[in-house]
This record gives sequence, structure tokens and C-alpha cells, in this order.
Amino acid sequence: MSASSTLPPFDPADPLGIDDLLDAEDLAVRDTVRSWAADRVLPHIAGWYESGELPGIRELARELGSIGALGMSLSGYGCAGASAVQYGLACLELEAADSGIRSLVSVQGSLAMYAIHRFGSEEQKQRWLPRMAAGEVIGCFGLTEPDHGSDPASMRTHAKRDGGDWVLNGRKMWITNGSVAGVAVVWAQTEDGIRGFAVPTDTPGFSAPEIKHKWSLRASVTSELVLDDVRLPADAVLPGVTGLRGPLSCLSHARYGIVWGAMGAARSCLEAAVDYAKSREQFGRPIGGFQLTQAKLADMAVELHKGILLAHHLGRRMDAGRLRPEQVSFGKLNNVREAIEICRTARTILGANGISLEYPVMRHATNLESVLTYEGTVEMHQLVLGKALTGLDAFR
Ligand SMILES: Cc1cc2nc3c(=O)[nH]c(=O)nc-3n(C[C@H](O)[C@H](O)[C@H](O)COP(=O)(O)OP(=O)(O)OC[C@H]3O[C@@H](n4cnc5c(N)ncnc54)[C@H](O)[C@@H]3O)c2cc1C
Repeated sequence: MSASSTLPPFDPADPLGIDDLLDAEDLAVRDTVRSWAADRVLPHIAGWYESGELPGIRELARELGSIGALGMSLSGYGCAGASAVQYGLACLELEAADSGIRSLVSVQGSLAMYAIHRFGSEEQKQRWLPRMAAGEVIGCFGLTEPDHGSDPASMRTHAKRDGGDWVLNGRKMWITNGSVAGVAVVWAQTEDGIRGFAVPTDTPGFSAPEIKHKWSLRASVTSELVLDDVRLPADAVLPGVTGLRGPLSCLSHARYGIVWGAMGAARSCLEAAVDYAKSREQFGRPIGGFQLTQAKLADMAVELHKGILLAHHLGRRMDAGRLRPEQVSFGKLNNVREAIEICRTARTILGANGISLEYPVMRHATNLESVLTYEGTVEMHQLVLGKALTGLDAFR
């Protein structure tokens, strides 16, 4: 028998055989999320995107809760206690449907729930986490301000002591899930440094007007948070952290999910491009038979599966408790940048159809423009890596 006859067949969907790294539980998580997205998101997403809405977001959140996707890698309090790799696989499948759905899950689990789980009091955890894991309460995470994005240390939102209470004032901008949230994790300056607060959104003085006219992440709720003399009891502050380390560690967790998620958007675009190239004929034959098209497809597949391999590597490090923030920056920088490139190349293969919402390609490409900017811009991650490589801080 020749050596090649004992080899497994080449799988165009998994050319490197990365699935061999997954166990039965990983595959079950992936299949559950993939089939949920196929049933509940894919049939509607083009319409939601076109109208710039995410109708039924509360129902979607409850369904995501029922499949264990909210706060998935957290343990206790109704959370699934999944591995980091399983959480990553879920992010990939959700973003293959749409970055807006993955954003809903990332902000809920990796930002709002993670902050409460890691830095909250036992009472705050009991109050919020079980209902957030079930999708009954949606959370948001308010760090960015109109004048302070990449440099959150300069934020102006502040919390002042008034007797036993805290009084919050300020504005947050570009906050995912803001107008539909029941609890907002808000970061504010205090006398002691930056602190996090779990703010029930029905507190007088809190409002969250939705931001419209977006050309990216259109199937995602994005809002401003307005805090006008929002009075909170002493126990609304997250007791476990002071300083920027708090929000930055939440962001590192969410960025990890993006490392995987971006590859989902890229996979969807590559699949659309391969299908199209096999059926679209020009000059009397399928465009997939032209060498220039094949070169594009080959390069897209190489970057896609390198990116998935990188995500796996980081996931295993996270599961082993060995993932450094610089490594997350490495992954986010590479995978989002490559995902956008894959989507743009797919767009060229689809020709004029590439700009139509009949195909997922332009939707993913425009979504990824937000993904490139939020959770630390490309430039911020270059600066993180530049500092790690040289020991020189070039942020200021
Ligand atoms: C759809 C969407 C959803 C979002 N959701 C949330 C959310 O839920 N919660 C939240 O808190 N925020 C959220 N954000 C905000 C996001 O995190 C910020 O947009 C991001 O941090 C960048 O901030 P900025 O837009 O103010 O850009 P700026 O910080 O003003 O940056 C503008 C440009 O200048 C560059 N730049 C800045 N400083 C330097 C430097 N030192 N050296 C080199 N270049 C530099 C940046 O890289 C960028 O290219 C969201 C954003 C979007 C678009």
C-alpha cells in the first residue's frame, strides 16, 4: 500500500486538518452554535443589515443563553464553564453569520459579565450573572467617551462620593448593547483612580440614545450613554479593582474572542468566493478555472487557516493560564487585518455581485471595519507589540 493511500483525504474546508485538534465536546459546541446561527441569523441577516436593526434582540439573547453562549468560559452563576477554545469556536461560528451577533455575545460575556465575575462582590455576582447568562438581562460596557477612545486613561466621566452614595456624571460613546441593556458596567474617574460601577439602567439620570447612520455593524445596537447625576448606592462599585487594569483585562478577554471571530467572517467570504468562482462563467469557462482567481483563492485559504491555527494556539495558552496580553494583541492585529483582506479579495471575485447584500461579502467587509477599530485599533496593537519588542513606549 502506498503512503498516500493511508492519508486522510484533503478537506477543502479544513486543509490543514485543524479539526484533529478538537475533541468531541469541542465539536459539539461548534455544531450547536453553527446550527443556531444557521436557523436564527442567516435567513434574516441581510434584511436586518439593510434596515440597520437587530429586531428581537431580547429573544435572540435568551436563545443564546439557552445554548450556553453567554459568559461561556466563566464558571458558576449559571455560566457554561466552557474552555477558551470552545468559546473561541463559538465566536467564530457567530461571526461567520455576522459580526453584530458576535459583538452582542462578546460584550455580554467577555466585557460586562467578565467584569462583574472577576471584580464584582459576591452580592453583585448573584444579582446579575445568572440572569445575564440566561440572556434575561443584557449588559453593556462603557469605557470609550466622545473625546477619549484609544486613551481611556484620560476619561472625563467621574464618580464622586456623596455621603454613602456615589454620583456619576459623564458621557460614553459607541457602546454596544447600550440602549437594550439592563445593566451597564461604567468606568469612571474617582479620587482613588478609575473604578468600575454596575449601573442598573433604570436608575434616574441614566439614558442611552441609540447611534444611527452607521455603515458598519448595522445589525448591532450601538449607543451613547448619558450619565446625569446618576446616584448609586455604595455597593454599586466593583470592589475588586482600581485603575485601568480593570477595563484592560476585560478587553483582553474580549479581544481573544475577536481573534477567532474575525476568522468566521473571513471563512464565510472565502466560501462565497469559491462557490461563485465555480459557477460564474466568463470567456466560456468558470472564473475559478483562471489562474489569477485560483491564486487569490489559495492566498485567502492560506491566511484563513493560518489565522485559525493562531487562534487555536492562543486558546490553548489561555486554557493553560499562559496567555499574555501582548499575545492577544498579536492575534487581534493579524487576524482582523487578514480577515478584511480576505473579504476584500472575495469581493473582487464576485465582481459587481460582490457589492450586493444578496451575498455576505460586502456586509462582512464593512463589519470588519468596526472590528479593526474597536477593542484597540490596529495602531494600538502595533504599539503594544512595538513596546514589547523594543522596551520603548511609543504611545505618547
Ligand atoms: C461599532 C462599534 C462598537 C463599539 N463598542 C464599544 C463598547 O461596547 N464599549 C466601548 O467602551 N467602546 C466601544 N467602541 C469604541 C471603540 O473601542 C473605539 O472606537 C476605539 O477604542 C478607538 O477610539 P476612537 O474611535 O475614539 O479613535 P481614536 O482613539 O480617536 O483614534 C483615531 C485614530 O488615531 C490613531 N491613534 C490614536 N492614538 C495614537 C497613537 N498614540 N499613535 C498612533 N496612532 C494613534 C488610532 O489608532 C486611530 O487610527 C465601539 C466602536 C465601534 C465602532
